[in-house]
Amino acid sequence: MAEFINRPASQPPSRTSSGYSPLILCLVLLLLAALAYIGYEKYMKQPMHVARSEDTVDRLNDDIKVNPDLNDHDTSLADLGSRPDWSLLDVWQDTITRDDFLRLLTEVYTIDDTWKRYIKINTDHAIIRTDTRVDDATYRLNFADTLSEISPQRNWSSAGDLIPGTREKPLAGLHIAIDPGHIGGDFAKIEERWFQIGDNKPLMEGNMTLTTAKIIKQELIKLGARVYLIRGINQPVNSKRPDDYLKEATAKAKSLGKIDDNSIKRIQNRFFYRTGEIRARARRVNLAFKPDLVICLHYNAEAWNDPSNPTLIDKNHYHVLLHGALTSSEIGHDDERFEMLVKILQRTHDEEKNLGMYFAQALRMTTKLPHYDYSPISARAKKMEGPAKGVWARNLLANRIYQCPVIFLEPYVMNNKEVHERFQLGDYSDVKPINGVDKKSIYREYADAVLLALKEYYLAHRVIYEPEE
Ligand SMILES: [Zn+2]
Repeated sequence: MAEFINRPASQPPSRTSSGYSPLILCLVLLLLAALAYIGYEKYMKQPMHVARSEDTVDRLNDDIKVNPDLNDHDTSLADLGSRPDWSLLDVWQDTITRDDFLRLLTEVYTIDDTWKRYIKINTDHAIIRTDTRVDDATYRLNFADTLSEISPQRNWSSAGDLIPGTREKPLAGLHIAIDPGHIGGDFAKIEERWFQIGDNKPLMEGNMTLTTAKIIKQELIKLGARVYLIRGINQPVNSKRPDDYLKEATAKAKSLGKIDDNSIKRIQNRFFYRTGEIRARARRVNLAFKPDLVICLHYNAEAWNDPSNPTLIDKNHYHVLLHGALTSSEIGHDDERFEMLVKILQRTHDEEKNLGMYFAQALRMTTKLPHYDYSPISARAKKMEGPAKGVWARNLLANRIYQCPVIFLEPYVMNNKEVHERFQLGDYSDVKPINGVDKKSIYREYADAVLLALKEYYLAHRVIYEPEE
């Protein structure tokens, strides 16, 4: 700054010839320098984000809100969601054709025509609403003329992107994150993933998914994969607890017209063990691990015939979930719509669907269970047609915000008679007779299905190096 002030003053006073005295020129320059310095100081002392234009827009919007209560629940976002930076979509300008965009939007990601309220498809571009609180806040996405030869911008590799593997190590170089569903342990009751029949051992889904995950991890490493467990103990990844969500839960309850303490407490708990927990896991996945694939492990449950007197049931089945099927209210959320667009533009579904079919097939072969079907007119699930049955698209927080292909598994009904008996036996090597049939432990059978699916999928879809004899 000082250099800038001195330089002109020390130069020959060229303008004196037009009548300005060198003294006046010096004074003017000093005055300009002083003003520039004051401006610089003021700018530097503000928090950096104040200078950003999106924030200016946000502040204007807050000003024109009908309800000025800043603690209010923002109904234009999903629970605990944050306002997306739409300029992040710029890397995908001119990369997807109109046909591909429309096909993925209508056949996979939405269940009805509500999307037309938020997305207008033109010949060579789409106009997408970015902030439903403001009428004219939109983003323009230009379509590509022809099918692009280049892989879309993304931080994960499809099977076809990987360097060659071998028959012994078909998963070499693949980064897989395993998400053992729920938390378990001391948190199993609060997250409503705990039940006990009589004096039997209680079932806690979060403990069972972790046991399964650890078996799968060891085996995947042998096949050459880099494996991350998103959690390795029965503790939350989320550092917050229900009390930390009092403000958000009260606002949410108010927006639902429920202001009693019980309703608020229930929402606080849910924000802790589900919404906040999955968002914390997503930060591990997206910022630290950056895997090529996430496998979410769950065990399913059916509604009790009589919840006050739980008795075991006969139903047992499997199904596999991919991301998609946003409901009409979900696509109305600015963040959910943005996250869906990222999935569309990264072409996540192509990889997810192929993988999902292998998982469904492997679960059928390994567990011998029938597949589960949602109602054909379900408003939250969409059937994915293909060579295997039991593959459905659903919009779950985890499979939406983990930024790579996500396979969500739901085999076994925990309150089924045989499944309950198998959990009582725990994990064991070899086999034990179950209803007259020798079976592996339920954890190892589940792991076998996951390993079979991954091995067969990558052997078939990546280049396999075959050395000449
Ligand atoms: Zn579950």
